[in-house]
Amino acid sequence: MKVPDYIAKLKAYVPGKPIEELEREYGISGCVKLASNENPIGPSPKAVEAIKEALKDLHRYPDGYNYLLRQRLGEKLQVSSSKIVFGNGSNEIIELLARTFLQEGDEVIMPSPSFLMYEIMVQAAGARPVKVSLKDLAVDLGKMAECVSGDTRMVFVNNPNNPTGTIVSRDAFEAFLDRISSDVIVVMDEAYIEFVRDEICPRGLDYLDSEKAVVTLRTFSKAYGLAGLRIGYGVMKKDIADYINRVRQPFNTNMLAQVGALAALNDDAFFERTIRLVHEELDFLYEQASKMGLRYFPTQANFFLIDLEQDANEVFERLLSRGVIVRAMTAYGYPNYIRVNVGLPEENQRFVEALKEVL
Ligand SMILES: *Cc1c(COP(=O)(O)O)cnc(C)c1O
Repeated sequence: MKVPDYIAKLKAYVPGKPIEELEREYGISGCVKLASNENPIGPSPKAVEAIKEALKDLHRYPDGYNYLLRQRLGEKLQVSSSKIVFGNGSNEIIELLARTFLQEGDEVIMPSPSFLMYEIMVQAAGARPVKVSLKDLAVDLGKMAECVSGDTRMVFVNNPNNPTGTIVSRDAFEAFLDRISSDVIVVMDEAYIEFVRDEICPRGLDYLDSEKAVVTLRTFSKAYGLAGLRIGYGVMKKDIADYINRVRQPFNTNMLAQVGALAALNDDAFFERTIRLVHEELDFLYEQASKMGLRYFPTQANFFLIDLEQDANEVFERLLSRGVIVRAMTAYGYPNYIRVNVGLPEENQRFVEALKEVL
């Protein structure tokens, strides 16, 4: 068997531990997972209803054009619906961008630490990830612009950045765009944009009609509560979308995902409840961390980092044995930090109690 060198060198993504697995391993129940930035409330009840209704059509192929969701989303975002590409999670859009536009020898600039999928997808396409360190936990756009070379085809900006929760400012983003050629695709991954409270935060969509090639990625996995369904999308210039549509599988978003996402998109009450809960509970968690004398980093997302000033893997293991799953940031280069996402009030309380015991 022959495998390309760049595939042989790949390291698989390690997802957050599923609750069921932890409960099996430790023989415990009622575990709390604050590790994958999921919506703590659950799925939108309207999405669940719509999915039940659609079950009777499962013998049919889905609509490869995703017409209904496409129309509604285009209307809501005020963009031409032909500029939207749906994916099996926004993860698939990252993969499609890499497969469509990259080849061996190409370079892609990305922040580090950031979402690990950028590196994996770029490397899997045979291209070279160029990782630019964060500055004070934030994406360093100035440094990233400096790293652009003749081989650069794409730049990833994760805004807010996972795992640090920081944003770039509109001014910094515009100064960055000024320095980037319109031949380079700038991917704004906005998986957490709905949680942002800081008004200086730019939106990728505002640059869709600029001369620059800005692609905005959004997802139904976080604020819309549908991580298990797998649906997200990218908004981009029509010529970029046209190339991706040649590469993507015709039925890459499944029927239930299409129907569920449309219902969730129309469920304003659920969306607003989610955002309110995340903000209120984030403030609660900040307060608790302060009371415990822990250094934490304020966030614009639904998760944040805490500096434990000791080995985060050990604390992670001890929290696990108490039925609380968080993320140790060792693999992201922060051996003393954990990332915690906001849960329900009782889950956050439980995390705080467990952390107190463990420390
Ligand atoms: C969660 C997340 C996504 C969304 O992934 P899906 O495939 O849509 O579930 C994208 N980017 C980042 C940075 C994320 O954290």
